[in-house]
Amino acid sequence: MEAREALLARVSAADGTTEIRDPATGEVIGKVTYGTPEDVKAAVDTAAAAQPAWAALSDEQRVAFLNRAADTIEEHAEELAYAIVREQGKPINGLGARYEVAGCVGWLRATAATPLPTEVLVDDETNHAELHYRPIGVVGAITPWNWPLIIATWQIAPSLRMGNTVVQKPSEYTTLCGLALVDVLNEVLPEGVLTAVTGAGDVGEALVRDKRVGKVMFTGSVKTGMKVVEESAGNLSRLTLELGGNDAGVVLPDVDPDKVAEGLFYGAFINNGQTCAALKRLYVPDAIYDRVIDSLAAFTATMPTGNGLDENTALGPLQNQMQWNVVNRLVEDARQRGARVVMGGDPDTSQPGFFYPKTLIADIDDDAPLVQEEQFGPVLPIIRYTDLEQAIAWANGVDVGLGASVWSADRDKAKEIAARLEAGTVWINGHGGIHPMVPFGGAKHSGYGLEFGVEGLKSVSVPQVISG
Ligand code: ADP
Repeated sequence: MEAREALLARVSAADGTTEIRDPATGEVIGKVTYGTPEDVKAAVDTAAAAQPAWAALSDEQRVAFLNRAADTIEEHAEELAYAIVREQGKPINGLGARYEVAGCVGWLRATAATPLPTEVLVDDETNHAELHYRPIGVVGAITPWNWPLIIATWQIAPSLRMGNTVVQKPSEYTTLCGLALVDVLNEVLPEGVLTAVTGAGDVGEALVRDKRVGKVMFTGSVKTGMKVVEESAGNLSRLTLELGGNDAGVVLPDVDPDKVAEGLFYGAFINNGQTCAALKRLYVPDAIYDRVIDSLAAFTATMPTGNGLDENTALGPLQNQMQWNVVNRLVEDARQRGARVVMGGDPDTSQPGFFYPKTLIADIDDDAPLVQEEQFGPVLPIIRYTDLEQAIAWANGVDVGLGASVWSADRDKAKEIAARLEAGTVWINGHGGIHPMVPFGGAKHSGYGLEFGVEGLKSVSVPQVISG
């Protein structure tokens, strides 16, 4: 066995009842036995028992633990990256698995370094009031399968920093990655502070319904997010919901198509499009429509799709059959409606793995399902517009609003358009860039609550005013 395979082998259960397969080859890479609602109860027992001692540590002590957690991830970086490639499918190189692991390290260190001092609100002859941020207790952290390590880290790091303990439930599609992360972090964290429970929706639901879970951090689909709201209602749990997106990009006529091609490509195709805040609909003015498509197609053609273990691969397979079917259905529907397939759209089903070719679809109407639904795959519909007002209305014409982007040589003009887009983040001349100090969250059905930075720390704590 190669050294980098050791962690995956350790978290795999030899007598597990479910086989986990590599999405690039179909090969069995490990086994798991999914947990049950009873396992959730035991995990919350553990987290609740560990919480008072964890909260009693000083902030400096918890900060030191987060930095040690970052160190241990660095020490196991290659093993973690290998686990991501084998189970999730993204490439080891580029904006892939090593990048995801490096992000975990960066976020842990940034979360450790973010100051959250007590705020003095009023201080005069008659009044003194201070605002403190207290731990909530036990946080339930529920994650999806697209970025299994970094999304879990976004939930775990601030929760621990603020004195909470965490029960983490990875997606059933990326159980081994979830277990691997928790295993590595538990090399340095005190016992009981971080526990993993595995399984599907019934296990997630049991976690949300447990009365001792005071806060749920949830990243996943809009549909499941709505269920989490219902499941948590009886507990009035605090929620951070980072749900799906269908991000629009609006190109203005003044851009140089060759200059924006690379940014458009990475915005749309990062992690094969399986990213909440990826560019999923592109609105391009008539005047430069063909040139933008030519430039983007030329750049896209240089990015190889393949097995993520190959250091030269830029895009891997889709993670699972369900998602492959969604992508294939939406592209077939677009073709039948008369849209133009500029490249891709013709998967080779004789090969193993959930591979789907990089696909650009032009001359498609805004009401096509490929535009209206979240494709979550390596397919970008490019919609032609003549009237900018119409493009803005189309961009805002869906229920979700996670991210959006404006592409222009004129920053001021771009900012004006950005202000009119209904999204939690609007990027200018880029799409999807995030930073640990910049809050991130959705508008409309993309959810509520902010992650990252000071806002992220506040969202995993209870504000307490001390007055007098
Ligand atoms: P995605 O397909 O984007 O992963 P889901 O919303 O289906 O989106 O899943 C996100 C996470 O939510 C997964 O860990 C999943 O097991 C969990 N989950 C599914 N159903 C429920 C539920 N009813 N309550 C809580 N968590 C759930």
